[in-house]
Order: sequence, then structure tokens, then C-alpha cells
Amino acid sequence: MQTTSGGDASTKTIRAVLDGCADCDTCRFLMEESCLFFPELYRLYDEEKEHRRTVGEKDLRRLSELCTLCGLCPCPDIPMDVIRGKTERVRQYGMPRRIRWLADVQTFGQMGRIAPRLFNRLLAFAPVCGMVRKAMGIHPDRRLPALPAESFFDWARRAGLDRKPDQGPKVAYFAGCSAGYLFPEVARAAVTFLRNNGIAVYVPSQQCCGMPTLVEGNRKTTLGRLGANLRTLLQAVGEGFTVVCSCPTCGFLMKVLLRQGAYFSNAYQREVGAGPDEIKVPDESRGGDGFVRLKKNLYPQLLKDDAYFSGFDALERIRLSENVMDLGEFLARWYKDKWLSVRFGEVPGRMVYYAPCHQREQKIKTPYLDLMQRIPGLAVASVGSVMDCCGMGGSLGYKQEFYEESIRLATPLIEKIRAAAPDAIVTDCLSCRLQFQHLLPYPVYHPLELLARGCEGLCGGSYWLKNKL
Ligand code: SF4
Ligand code: SF4
Repeated sequence: MQTTSGGDASTKTIRAVLDGCADCDTCRFLMEESCLFFPELYRLYDEEKEHRRTVGEKDLRRLSELCTLCGLCPCPDIPMDVIRGKTERVRQYGMPRRIRWLADVQTFGQMGRIAPRLFNRLLAFAPVCGMVRKAMGIHPDRRLPALPAESFFDWARRAGLDRKPDQGPKVAYFAGCSAGYLFPEVARAAVTFLRNNGIAVYVPSQQCCGMPTLVEGNRKTTLGRLGANLRTLLQAVGEGFTVVCSCPTCGFLMKVLLRQGAYFSNAYQREVGAGPDEIKVPDESRGGDGFVRLKKNLYPQLLKDDAYFSGFDALERIRLSENVMDLGEFLARWYKDKWLSVRFGEVPGRMVYYAPCHQREQKIKTPYLDLMQRIPGLAVASVGSVMDCCGMGGSLGYKQEFYEESIRLATPLIEKIRAAAPDAIVTDCLSCRLQFQHLLPYPVYHPLELLARGCEGLCGGSYWLKNKL
């Protein structure tokens, strides 16, 4: 089997992934229905082997587009190697304008909030919509989200949430771009539920978490936005705030990707007093309480801080990632400590809950499911397995060239939801929400919307009335 090919650094990086996974072969069957990347990788490999058709640069570029960084594959290095290959490609050749636009929800949301009604009216006008789709490479059948009358960030400013509360239990809420610009009702539900449980909410100035641009190989924008968030959020942490995210993808980036490699850094090793021949890393099995000791010379190439975000200070990365919580995880902890009010009003309905990939990758189980099961009248059951995928993959489901694959990948999960015929679907991922809204006739909610509605009796019904759940 070929181990490298000619071509640029990007091609060589993706080719090395192809060779490694082809030799291993584990994911040929394991990932057959759960990911678009591996079936294409083995198809290319088989064609090359059986028909002597060389895998070219174009094939490898297309292959790299199919990884959405869902984190499911057994080797965490694989998706990050793919991102490295894409990043090298963008560094060398630049990024096509249509991809730059498509992967930039923040800029789209900021532009749209100036005149959302006009924006929606223009997009409803077929010739304009067609031009936009063409310019951005969006498939003609993909449903486009409408902009809300007011973004969450504007609402939060009007509500005075950009001012730091000085007392009481308090959180800094990182809403993310999807809830901030597209689904403000989700972010308002988060605020409603937190406040009705006596928790003061501060909405700091925030940039996109960086995931959409990271996945497309746009390193400069990703690092610029992450750097700005790092400064603001660390300041909030220093002032006693817990940072919470209602978007599992923002949480995955700040909790999991941000600290990759950071524990191997010299700064961290000095801080934890590691001996000259050892590397000390937190013992995850004991919840970070205690260390695993590794021999320094065993894996010198692996035990170093050279991950995607290693340009940022390792101790700052660790500090932020250890102080960010998924909002469901935060609420579950409050509930366990008996601080959370669970006097819910009735929310009638039979719903299914889909736990998204980036929640799974945070290894926090399904905290929202446990909380929702305490709402009287609400029958909510888990749907789909860890191997199921909504198929949206961030912007992949919008792209003209991958739309069909996006729908195909989603099909097993969509069939399970159809078989359950629920009154509504619940998921904390707003990218999954867009796909479910596109393919299914059921309303889709974030768990926080149901929790906010459940505590309606405590908050005078204002959330229920305003958001017409
Ligand atoms: S991701 Fe890991 S387990 Fe899967 S084929 Fe590649 S090397 Fe093997
Ligand atoms: S991260 Fe997800 S999409 Fe990417 S290769 Fe692994 S399983 Fe496939």
C-alpha cells in the first residue's frame, strides 16, 4: 500500500490519514452508517487497490470535506489531522469566498440583526434567494432559517444582562451564534430558567466559539475569535462566574478541544511539580482528582503541547476549559446539591430526546433528560443511539455538493423519530434542530425551553406567553 503521495502538505496529511486508516481497517464496518468520511476513505482505497486508480488531490480534498468533527471515531487524532490538512490547504490556496460566508454565522447574524424583516423579505423573494444560494453554494432544496425580529444579544443588552451582577450565585452565559442570532427563544429560556432558580445571569461580550471556521480550515479567524473569548471569559472566571454554554458544540470546543495537549506543556508540568522523568496528567477516571503518571521518554512525539490551540498559554487554556460547563451539566449539579427548584408546572406531551454528538464528547451523560423527566405530564424518551447522526454537520448539510449525503446520513435517525411519532422533538443542538425542522413535521425544542415552560408557575407565565410553546 502506498504510504505517501506527491503534492502539497495538505495532500500529504490527508493521504497519511487514508493510509493509516486503510491499514487498520477497523472503521470500515464500524463507521459504515455513522459517518460520511470513512465509507469514502475505504471506497477510494479499494478503487486504488483493485483498479489501480490513483487517489488524486481532488479526491483527498473532497474526502477531507466529509469529516464534520463529530468525534465519534475511535482515534481522536484522525479528525484533528483532517483539520490540519484543511488548514494547510487554506493557508496555501486561500478559502473560497462561498465557504467563508457559509461558515460565518456570526457575520451573517450581525448583518441580519440590522434589518431582520427586510432580510427575511428579501430571502423570501425567489430571484434574490436563488442568487444568494448560488453565491454561497447552498443546495436549492435546503430550507434557510428566518432571522428573528431581535437577536438574543440585543435583547440581553436591553434587559441589562451585559452588566455584571455583584452578588448571589452567578453565571456568565455563552449563548453561541445559533441561539444568539437564529434561535433567541432558546437563550431567553436559559435566562428565564436560571433566574427563576435564583441564579444571576451575565451575558459577556462574545465572539463565535470558532468551531464553524475551524472545521473549514480558517485558522486565522478561529484563533482571533477564540483569543477574544479567552480574555473575556477568563476575566469573568476570575471574578467568580461559572461560564455556562447551552450549545454543545461551543462547549465541546472550549472544554475538550481547547485543552488538548495543554497538560503536557512545561508550564503545567512545573505547576503540578512533575519529576524530571515523568509527565503528570489529571486522572479523568477520578474526576480530575489525582494524577496519572507517564514515563516522559515513552512517547516523546505524543506527550507534547502541539495541538491546534497550543499558540495560546497552556495554563489559560486549562483554566478556561476547567471552568466552562454545559448548562445541562450545571443544572444537574445544582439539582444534586438540592439548590435547584424543581417545582415544575405541567407540560403535557409525548416527546423524544436526541442527545447530540458534541454533548456525548463532553462525557457528561444526558443531564437534560434526567431533569425533563421531572416535569409532570411530559413523557420524554431517548431516541437514537450514539452511532446515529443528524447529518447536518454544521454547514455541510447546506452545501450543494453534500446535501444528498447529509440526508442519507440522517436517514436511520429520522426513521427512528418517525416510528416514534412524537408530539415534538427535543435536542440541545441547534444544528440538529435545523435538520429536524427540514426533514420532519414535528416541532423541535431545546430542553431549556421545556424547563422554562415547566417553571412557568414560578415565573408568572411570561415565558410561555411570549414564546408560544
Ligand atoms: S480511526 Fe483509528 S480505529 Fe478507525 S480506522 Fe482509523 S486508525 Fe483505525
Ligand atoms: S470525527 Fe466524525 S465525521 Fe470525522 S471521521 Fe470521525 S466519525 Fe467521521
